[in-house]
Amino acid sequence: MHDYVIVGAGSAGCVLANLLSADPDCRVLLLEAGGEELPPAERMPAAWSTMLNTEVDWSYHTVPQAGAMKRRLFWPRGKMLGGSGSINCMTYIRGLPSDFDHWCSLGNSGWGWKEVLPFFVKSEHNERFKNDPLHGQGGPITVSDPFYVDPTDQLYLKAALASGFPHNSDFNGATQEGVGLFQQTIKDGARSSSFSAYLKPVMSRPNLTIVNRAMCTRIVVKNGRATGIEYLHFGKPVTVHASTEVILSAGAINTPHLMLMSGIGPAEELRKLGVHLVHDLPGVGKNLQDHLAIGVTFDATEEIGLAGMSQEEVGKAIQDWQTHHRGPMSSNGSTSGGHIRSDASVSEPDLQVYFLATGDRDHCRYLSTGSGITFLINLQRPKSQGEIRLHSADPLSHPVIDPQYLTDSEGTDLSTLVKGVRLNRQIAATEPLTSLLTGEIALSADCKTDAEIGAYIRRHCQTLYHPCGTCSMGTHSLAVVDPELKVRGLAGLRVADASVFPRIISGNLNATTVMVAERAAAMVLSDHSPILTKS
Ligand SMILES: Cc1cc2nc3c(=O)[nH]c(=O)nc-3n(C[C@H](O)[C@H](O)[C@H](O)COP(=O)(O)OP(=O)(O)OC[C@H]3O[C@@H](n4cnc5c(N)ncnc54)[C@H](O)[C@@H]3O)c2cc1C
Repeated sequence: MHDYVIVGAGSAGCVLANLLSADPDCRVLLLEAGGEELPPAERMPAAWSTMLNTEVDWSYHTVPQAGAMKRRLFWPRGKMLGGSGSINCMTYIRGLPSDFDHWCSLGNSGWGWKEVLPFFVKSEHNERFKNDPLHGQGGPITVSDPFYVDPTDQLYLKAALASGFPHNSDFNGATQEGVGLFQQTIKDGARSSSFSAYLKPVMSRPNLTIVNRAMCTRIVVKNGRATGIEYLHFGKPVTVHASTEVILSAGAINTPHLMLMSGIGPAEELRKLGVHLVHDLPGVGKNLQDHLAIGVTFDATEEIGLAGMSQEEVGKAIQDWQTHHRGPMSSNGSTSGGHIRSDASVSEPDLQVYFLATGDRDHCRYLSTGSGITFLINLQRPKSQGEIRLHSADPLSHPVIDPQYLTDSEGTDLSTLVKGVRLNRQIAATEPLTSLLTGEIALSADCKTDAEIGAYIRRHCQTLYHPCGTCSMGTHSLAVVDPELKVRGLAGLRVADASVFPRIISGNLNATTVMVAERAAAMVLSDHSPILTKS
């Protein structure tokens, strides 16, 4: 018997495990489908993409996307301690204050910018900003300036400034707009994640039990109350009990998947698949949102970046990192870029740009043969929305992932990305970058009209790895959790991860997921340990 059972040791789950087990009288069980060991690449920032499609990745795919030439898009998700936060690219962005004020205006009182800012600050240790009310000092997750900046990043920034974009030295500061160097969740040249920052330091607490390779298959509900979790451990079924709460932190795909498998979701959908209905909750799996990205690549005149290095040079860089945690391997490979507006009529940035000193495409799964540069553009406020559904009643089968990319009725998502491609080309055509480039490569090079660029986007767009919203918080009929993150209509069950976002934010998701988990822990403690929270 445990007080709390947490499903998923990801970006959110590690935070909750730490904060709830801080009270030695509180027994916390953390269940994680991934194994105990983390691969060496988890530490080395430049190696993040080498973990994709390996055993620490759930390696999901969407169903064929009508808006993307019927392609099935690759959706990596971390399956290890730290979850997707252990496989991610480490860019630290919180989103815009207006994102959270919008959450609040949708009925989520307590989630406006002023209310969430203290939790961002609490979780952060910023190595540059001291005594800055917008930044934290002494928090668990280290946020730093890039340890290594490729010389071509500087050329990019000069070109971007020369083509009219303002400089921004802090995308989480007073304004998000502009181009510059991204801050990253990197400490001393190695990844700083929820695992390394929140869970690892407290793993020996006697009141915290962590079970790895625990594939959770069902939430046990008795008389309208979640009382425990069933999971498979090396194929053997196990049931554990939670006397106070079950907390779902399995991420924006697996949290709704687990609820649906447990009979919590849209009644009709579940009945059709023969799943016994436990609680009719029509919003489970709905409201799926993601950031969609498209790259254009140029050949370069010189060997540049990591991809332009010889085997010997890469070997030396790895050695350098192993000895000093410095050099090219301490970089996540996307240090420069920014947040821009697709045109002057837009009031806040609606596009995120990345400069990558590589010609590699498709999540680095297909490596370029030559030296090149890729300009990525990423849609920040998509209108298209999709859903997660059950594929079958078999708890081990992957869910149906249907983000319905580029299907918004007005076509705004596509037209915004088209503008983004043009803006990236504008930067590429500005000195000092132009001299380094020999020309845009095939696939996009011949696309000149909006229709041609649009078709290229549909054929080659990819996820920027930010699914969210599938157990949306709110008070409307499709809300899954209330503003206190409690599952509506059931007792003893909360969701705390990226699935509760009512709307996707204008930025990368990890910092906001950690903020949600920090707030969730405070809510749980204030409900169940009033004395502890007062002190
Ligand atoms: C490749 C990649 C790059 C990214 N880059 C960035 C970036 O640069 N910056 C940024 O801010 N964000 C980035 N993100 C997004 C960010 O990392 C995620 O949004 C965030 O980690 C989500 O946290 P979460 O707690 O909701 O889910 P996760 O961190 O995915 O955690 C879910 C955990 O639950 C476990 N789990 C799932 N199902 C079960 C089950 N049935 N039983 C037991 N355990 C289960 C999983 O194994 C996992 O450990 C990236 C994501 C990816 C995948």
